[in-house]
Amino acid sequence: MDSIAVIEKILNIDGKKNAIVDFTQKAGGIMVFTVARKYQHCPCPHCGKNTSKRQDLRTYRQKTNLKHINLSDTRIIELSLLKRYFRCERCRRQFFEKFEFESEHGFHTKAFEAYVIASWGYLSGNEIARLSKTSPRKVYEILQSIDHAKINETGIEILSSLDEIYLWVDEHSFSGHDMILVITELKTKKLIAVLDGITNEKLESWINSLPIKVQLKIKGYATDMNKCYRNTLDAILSHPIHSVDKFHLFQEANRMVDDTRMLNSWLVKMNFVKADEIVSSGKIPKKLSKENIKEMNDASLWWNSEKSQAMRKYKEKSEQRLQGDQVNPKDLENSKGESIPYREITLDYFLETGYRKLFLTREKNLSGIQRLRLGQIFREFDYRGYLAESWTIKEDFMDAIDARDMKEVDRIIADCGTSEHHRLKQFARTLTNWYSGIRWYCEHSSEDFKFTNALTEGINNSCKVAKRQSHGFRSKDNYLRKIFVKCILKNAKKNLFPSII
Ligand SMILES: [Zn+2]
Repeated sequence: MDSIAVIEKILNIDGKKNAIVDFTQKAGGIMVFTVARKYQHCPCPHCGKNTSKRQDLRTYRQKTNLKHINLSDTRIIELSLLKRYFRCERCRRQFFEKFEFESEHGFHTKAFEAYVIASWGYLSGNEIARLSKTSPRKVYEILQSIDHAKINETGIEILSSLDEIYLWVDEHSFSGHDMILVITELKTKKLIAVLDGITNEKLESWINSLPIKVQLKIKGYATDMNKCYRNTLDAILSHPIHSVDKFHLFQEANRMVDDTRMLNSWLVKMNFVKADEIVSSGKIPKKLSKENIKEMNDASLWWNSEKSQAMRKYKEKSEQRLQGDQVNPKDLENSKGESIPYREITLDYFLETGYRKLFLTREKNLSGIQRLRLGQIFREFDYRGYLAESWTIKEDFMDAIDARDMKEVDRIIADCGTSEHHRLKQFARTLTNWYSGIRWYCEHSSEDFKFTNALTEGINNSCKVAKRQSHGFRSKDNYLRKIFVKCILKNAKKNLFPSII
């Protein structure tokens, strides 16, 4: 292989059609290759007829060099084109010849366009301009040519190639209340569509734009706990499965524990240790007599009463859970292996810090010292046992969802429904509302395939990162283009840009 052929290979120029006739080096590491066409004839751009008739016999050097390849910011390859002036025999119009690697406007080559678009995924437009020593305007002109409607087109192609379709629908914000709806397929883990609005009409028209064949293949869909999408999709699709995301269920359980914890701290702070009315309704009674408060604060009276029977169960259960590893307060060690003394928390310190993290961490992830602290909180600062109750229910619920055990979920809903605490009752209502979704989740996910929105959240996140990198987008079209480059182009580069290998 001779050296010219190698250079042609590197430059991605077809040696049969074109010849490299000259090479110069400019300041700033810019290398300029002069290229001329080999053929004597040229097709007319106006009528398409091949012609070899020249208007004059001179060759003209194109005034501006074409940006071609950007090896690094100090090694840039440009092409200088030698062009002949033709005159068409059929339509009599005059024209300069055109190379096959030139872009439409002739300011740069197709390879450079592909480079700009591909690197926009991780660089800003201005940065690309700086690296390739060109003007930002030209870069943005190239970026404007991206057609973001292709997201939905490629999405339909992906869907048509599948046998079963499981969709996921989720939204995120473009700016303020201007939202964007992201639809992904769960099994192939691919972005299917991006809609520039979250109204039901948009979703409906998108579903209706799918071919009937594809619509019939939709076996299930999953959403976070948003009723609107569920209703829309239920109305359009025939017998789809609706599933609720596991992590949103977990979030809901954590919220329940957190609210209970805050209410408990508040009650302890105000000395309303036994405020039945407050706990059961979540509202503060207007008038409290001194006797009321005195009675409320007497915790021992309550624990001896019949009402406490149910709460006793939870207290014992939480103790059992926390004793799992039998942590001894004297054996505590820090990461360096030095022993550390365990100090009991005082009530004031508990009220000041709240120990929120302890309640929101799952039991299996708690460290020894955290177990001791939680045990102490349940023993000493949880006068009515509501903390132990909600915490035990949260742990039971998470275990049940992990094991996909629907019977256990039924039991938890029943237990929550009969609880005295208004927040637990609310939790039971939430679970009942989404009961069918939870059941579908348990029945239709397996170890390999889970109805989870981790992927969609990932795509959402990478969109948001793009948004943050550029300090927000002014135009929604540009934002959709960026999503297109970031999420679709990575997988489909070869199809869209056959010119680069
Ligand atoms: Zn012509």
